[in-house]
Amino acid sequence: MASILDEVLKHLPESADITDSGFEGANIVLYTRNKDFFINNEGAIKEVVDAIKKRVELRADSSLCMGLEEAEAEIKKIVPEEAGISNIIFDPQRSGVIIEAEKPGIAIGKQGDVLREIRKKTFWVPLVRRVPAIRSKLIENIRQVLYENNDFRKKFLDKVGRRIYDGWIRGKKSEWIRLTFLGGARQVGRSCMLLQTPESRIMIDCGVNVAAQDDDAYPYLDAPELNLPEVDAVIVTHAHLDHSGLIPALIKYGYEGPIYCTDPTRDIMALLALDFIGISHKEAKKSLFTSDDVKNMVKKTICLNYEEVTDITPDVRLTFFNAGHTLGSSMVHLNIGNGMHNLLLTGDMNYEHSNLLSSAVTRFPRLETLVTEGTYGGKEDNPPSRKESEEELKKIITETVKRKGKVLMPVLGVGRSQEIMLILEKMYRAEELPKDIKVYIQGMVWDITAIHTAYPDYFNTKIKKAIFHKDENPFLCKIFKQVGSRKEMEQALESGPCVIMATSGMMTGGASVDYFKALAEDKKNSLVLTSYQGEGSLGKKLQDGEKDINFAEGSKIITIKTQMDIHTLKGFSGHSSRNQLLNFVHNLDPKPKKVIVVHAESSKCLELASTLHKIHKIETVAPKNLETIRIK
Ligand code: ZN
Repeated sequence: MASILDEVLKHLPESADITDSGFEGANIVLYTRNKDFFINNEGAIKEVVDAIKKRVELRADSSLCMGLEEAEAEIKKIVPEEAGISNIIFDPQRSGVIIEAEKPGIAIGKQGDVLREIRKKTFWVPLVRRVPAIRSKLIENIRQVLYENNDFRKKFLDKVGRRIYDGWIRGKKSEWIRLTFLGGARQVGRSCMLLQTPESRIMIDCGVNVAAQDDDAYPYLDAPELNLPEVDAVIVTHAHLDHSGLIPALIKYGYEGPIYCTDPTRDIMALLALDFIGISHKEAKKSLFTSDDVKNMVKKTICLNYEEVTDITPDVRLTFFNAGHTLGSSMVHLNIGNGMHNLLLTGDMNYEHSNLLSSAVTRFPRLETLVTEGTYGGKEDNPPSRKESEEELKKIITETVKRKGKVLMPVLGVGRSQEIMLILEKMYRAEELPKDIKVYIQGMVWDITAIHTAYPDYFNTKIKKAIFHKDENPFLCKIFKQVGSRKEMEQALESGPCVIMATSGMMTGGASVDYFKALAEDKKNSLVLTSYQGEGSLGKKLQDGEKDINFAEGSKIITIKTQMDIHTLKGFSGHSSRNQLLNFVHNLDPKPKKVIVVHAESSKCLELASTLHKIHKIETVAPKNLETIRIK
């Protein structure tokens, strides 16, 4: 059988003078030595795309590309100064040039006319990347790793493409599809699934259960179905550790293929993985992976935008849809066997508009089987609304500030903290907070917020409008102060009334515990818990009314006698409530024929599955770990 590349070339005229062709993942890339064809090919390339229904990109043969220095000067001349170019990096292997700019919209131009001009003048293919509004060392490092490994990336992506188009036959059907649950079934934590068809083996998520010990902390990677070197693709729904924590280790254990996720997920996942190594060090535990493994993960990640359809194996097409849970969090839609069966995995999902993100999507091209999370799917799981919790938070801050106290908010670094920052900024803008209030943002929370400012396209419409049309970035509001060093932490503690946001959300360690020790014995202060508090955590003890808290300090035990106010606000969750889950399924278009419930305690999985069965009269299941369901 002829390869897909031969078929592409067959469609092009001899004069196209194609000198090289290859793959970048599912994309087909051609290099031409004909200047006119490079600039005015549109008809011919479009014809090929229409014929084979795959993305085809045309680049100039390196012999046509302008010299580096001359090209850099030309680009600076073409791109308007307001774009704020900070860096121009050439990728000669791929005839590409990356332009890092503060305002990508201006660097791209109306309908891409600035980019077209660059192509025409220099024969380099430009790609614009945003410089985050808050400097992020991690993003700089990730980009550096990718630039330095251009050669590796080119070969790796070509190999991925060869696998995708290996045995490529248009319209091929799959005779069977099975889904195995390797973790995160009837539990929250260590999410991991394996999808198999006659052609494909695809893993979705591979997380860690941070609260569990030893073997219970990791998915069943020793399941008989799983042979890591044979897996074709790994998909990550979002960056929380219970979905992504073990991804860097997979490569070490023999996985050779690509990792698919969105750009924000890649960056936050890398940051959390590096932090995870740090925590293991501190606790004198051996980490399952090293920073080199994290680097390898970044090198092998293929980032996709929402609603960008991509072949990932000969019989599976992947599309990400907004899940509304954290920045870049995705629902995974898999079109299997050329549309024979369509599967949607929600990952963690919020069917509600938050201050940061839009609500999870409910319309899909096709849908037969739904795998949904059910974190709050139990009968009792209807927390107060976001609005009610916002009002309560306002009241707590106002009263605490009035009595000259400080408000400590232990938060989850990803998602919840940025949501609360936006709420505080909104209150400040509405003059509902004291004019001189300061909100101290501790290390990790600040780093993750910086990553958020690199990807404003993932925010909801309201925040995007504020940033793109009014040049008002809520994360740059002057009330927010970064706390990086010990000294800055002391300054925060010595300052007047303020809000302090620090990890961890359950107060199982991290700066939130240090702040607690300093603030707990003064009754002017308040503690506001917004995250789920696991059994045994300090947050849970305080919620349950424990006042005398012991800490080991060296060989001594110190007792903190808690006097501060303790509050719990439940309306800021990144997960859907039970009603929202039911509404989500109700509003799905088209309706699934089968629903599989995972990612919740056993009783909640069963309650949600049974309710959905009664309402919709469709098959619903709540599988256990290690169970396999044949979905076709
Ligand atoms: Zn999550």
